[in-house]
Amino acid sequence: MAVDKTTFALARMLSSELVTLQSAKTAVFWYLILRNFVRAVRHLRARGLLTAAREAYLVLVRKGFACMLLLPSVRNKVQGELDQVTLDLASKLAPKFPDAPTYTALPDKGLTAADVSAALAKLSDLPRTEWEGGRVSGAVYHGGKDMGDIWRDAFSRFEVSNPLHADVFPGVRKMDSEVVSMCLSMYRAPLPASVIDDGGAGTTTSGGTESILMACKAYRDRARAEFGITEPEMIVPVSVHAAFGKAAMYFGIKIHHIPVDKKTRQVQIAKVRRAINANTILLVGSAPNFPDGAIDDISALSDLAVKYRLGLHVDCCLGSFLVPFLERAGYPTVPFDFRVPGVTSISCDTHKYGFSPKGSSCIMYRSKSIRKYAYSVTTTWPGGVYATPSMSGSRPGALIAGAWASLVHMGIDGYTQSCREIVGAAKRIADGVRKDFAGDLYVLGDPLVSVVAFGSVTEGQGNGKGCAPIYEVGDRMSKMGWHLNALQDPPALHIACTRLTVPAVDDFLRDLRLAVDEVKALEEPGKGSMVMLYGLGTGSAVGGQLIGEMATRYMDVLYA
Ligand SMILES: *Cc1c(COP(=O)(O)O)cnc(C)c1O
Repeated sequence: MAVDKTTFALARMLSSELVTLQSAKTAVFWYLILRNFVRAVRHLRARGLLTAAREAYLVLVRKGFACMLLLPSVRNKVQGELDQVTLDLASKLAPKFPDAPTYTALPDKGLTAADVSAALAKLSDLPRTEWEGGRVSGAVYHGGKDMGDIWRDAFSRFEVSNPLHADVFPGVRKMDSEVVSMCLSMYRAPLPASVIDDGGAGTTTSGGTESILMACKAYRDRARAEFGITEPEMIVPVSVHAAFGKAAMYFGIKIHHIPVDKKTRQVQIAKVRRAINANTILLVGSAPNFPDGAIDDISALSDLAVKYRLGLHVDCCLGSFLVPFLERAGYPTVPFDFRVPGVTSISCDTHKYGFSPKGSSCIMYRSKSIRKYAYSVTTTWPGGVYATPSMSGSRPGALIAGAWASLVHMGIDGYTQSCREIVGAAKRIADGVRKDFAGDLYVLGDPLVSVVAFGSVTEGQGNGKGCAPIYEVGDRMSKMGWHLNALQDPPALHIACTRLTVPAVDDFLRDLRLAVDEVKALEEPGKGSMVMLYGLGTGSAVGGQLIGEMATRYMDVLYA
């Protein structure tokens, strides 16, 4: 009887245990269903039904294409074509220079200083694109003829320095911190009274991309530590720099690219709002963006950031030392800096319109409480306690000295003047395109800074006849020595004006006239590189795949 009772009790316990297990399973099941459902709803809300469907379709086509590539005949054909493209690329980009000194392994016996110098001279004299005449968009952000001497002075005085060892190189530490302070004050950050007070803070980095990477990492780690967000998402304009996509890939952040308004080229605020959910950590705006030079509506983004307590990064990598000087230079401007309450970080490239040597940028935060998440600290490394503010360990002190020297050489007066000239050139180009090319070309948006983008009036509206396909225009301009950037969606070209562009504006408009007229008289499509590359349709499933493969080959070629 006693045994029976015990057995019964045991059986009851077991069965209730089973029931609990069963209900736990059920709970997990429904939890997973619910979680995926919430994810799907959020995804659809952010992307919109149409885009989500298109993305799904692209994935399918890509899978199909990958399957087709499994067929040896198809694979061999595609491979053969790609190999041909690679060889063509190599002959263009990495040609053999029989007269140039070439070392693919260390020389057995080291060269004398004189021989090294002679070799360097030959390498710097290789045939190349001429940029001095101002026909290259962006690329060379020249600070005037004295700047080279100023750099060389800075480099030679700090040639072995490395801010990783602040005690060994106190001057570099000081300059590094002052470059950040100068940027913070330019961008109107709340400045801390002393090192123990909170307030605007930042670090220097190796360039705009690293600045952006650092900001994204900081927001990701802050969200994990302070809000428990393990599946972070960020919302960026489709026009934002590619570095944000890179950050998303590197740091495992889901990224939503929000379309821009066709007329203003600013990110569509209503769509940004719709993409916000509990996993959102960051909104981004550009001032200005790279493709068409539009400045997003930072105030409207700020309202959203404040309301939903999100980070708001403003990418001023390109705006760098132009946007803060627009007002002083007498041009119209819009809010973009830390005076906008929701702005929590800004990236600013000293190596663009700051005219610093390449490899220099600054990332700024409204508060040290954000910057600390950009830091990397390891206390248990056998090599010692190791702490670095950004990606690199050792850093080139010479470049920091070069940046500091450039900034103090230019000063507020110098940057105001360069802003007046460069933005003036951009405005003359925009006005010229609007006035003299009215039937053929249009200017994208209303550029306030240095980039002017223009497309063909009828292109993209289903009628290519009688107009000038813009990539054809680009290829004609290339033949005349101009290096403009090709944009997609919509097809367009842009020129990022620099100091070198200023004296070349009239030439630009004259050559553009020739190019447009030539293209309008064209009987059949040309075979220029811009037409070939972008004519494939990089946004289509297979075109995108092939061009992605070509871009990979391109990088292989660079190291050929
Ligand atoms: C140039 C640029 C960057 C970053 O570029 P780096 O080449 O890494 O210095 C970021 N955003 C915009 C808008 C830019 O034009």
